[in-house]
Amino acid sequence: QSTINQIAAGEVVERPASVVKELIENAIDAGATAVTAEIKDGGISFIRITDNGAGIEKDDIPTAFLRHSTSKIQSIEDLLTIGSLGFRGEALSSIASVAQVELVTKTRTAFTGIRYLIEGGEEQSMTEIGCPDGTTFIVRNLFFNTPARRKFLKSAMTEASYISDLMERLAVSHPDISFKFINNNKTVLHTFGNSQLKDIIYHVYGRTIAAEVVTVENGNEHISISGYIGKPIISRGNRNYENYFINGRYIKSNIINKAIEEAYRPYSMQHKYPFTAIHFSINPEFIDVNVHPTKMEVRFHNFEELYQLTLNTIRDALNSTNM
Ligand code: ADP
Ligand code: MG
Repeated sequence: QSTINQIAAGEVVERPASVVKELIENAIDAGATAVTAEIKDGGISFIRITDNGAGIEKDDIPTAFLRHSTSKIQSIEDLLTIGSLGFRGEALSSIASVAQVELVTKTRTAFTGIRYLIEGGEEQSMTEIGCPDGTTFIVRNLFFNTPARRKFLKSAMTEASYISDLMERLAVSHPDISFKFINNNKTVLHTFGNSQLKDIIYHVYGRTIAAEVVTVENGNEHISISGYIGKPIISRGNRNYENYFINGRYIKSNIINKAIEEAYRPYSMQHKYPFTAIHFSINPEFIDVNVHPTKMEVRFHNFEELYQLTLNTIRDALNSTNM
């Protein structure tokens, strides 16, 4: 079991940023309105994710760390209509198999909280503890028992920058949630929740970018598109600022890249790639996110429709703006 978990961990947990991503997706799925991520040493020695979500019942804790245990789908049909970010039940077992994990959690109805320690997939202890409602995960010494994998990590500074990028994308993907990111005791990002996307863009990317974006808005029966595209003056030489989200999930898609860049082509001058922050809301029955363990790829049942709608929507938005 533990060897299999370590192998599975290779697919889900590549680096500290993957741990942060999985734990924050769980926090979002648990209905958190505020999430704090704190890291030290690029997340290699220390990651702490705190949320104010539903918490985990005492009896459900050991099972949550078992491979393929998820509370989020009951049947294969549920897979077709996944509303949650997680559903494969692989993250906690994978993380716990390659790190020292401490969990402190309390549901709203429980009298006390629970502190649970698990290391290299082996349960260490489970004790009662006083704590606020919600969940805190501390992940220490990632890959402590798989030195070969640890060797593949980059410098602490580079790993921290991956996490920083991730935190920015998470903030943009959920303007409703307050995100705080603390790197080596310094708060580097703090959004306030209950915000409009435009406010988050201002907050994360700054005034210069927020002042040069065009509203993108359209939809049909099963796809709705809403967000912003940057004017040519803030275009880029790479896709780093070409962000979009499907049903609250940050993903990469060649189809969407192509649609965005095709619409943008007549306007791009020096740089090909626009700034974008666009939310797609698509009927879950029309997409398949169960393509890859990291859930970064999505398959569309009707990608031509998505391509055309995206292209036309962005084209219209750019056409109707003075640039
Ligand atoms: P998945 O997210 O695919 O269901 P995970 O391994 O990420 O699988 O998590 C296992 C289970 O642990 C989740 O289904 C959920 O029930 C519980 N869980 C994990 N993190 C949290 C959290 N922050 N708050 C509440 N429940 C959580
Ligand atoms: Mg999960």
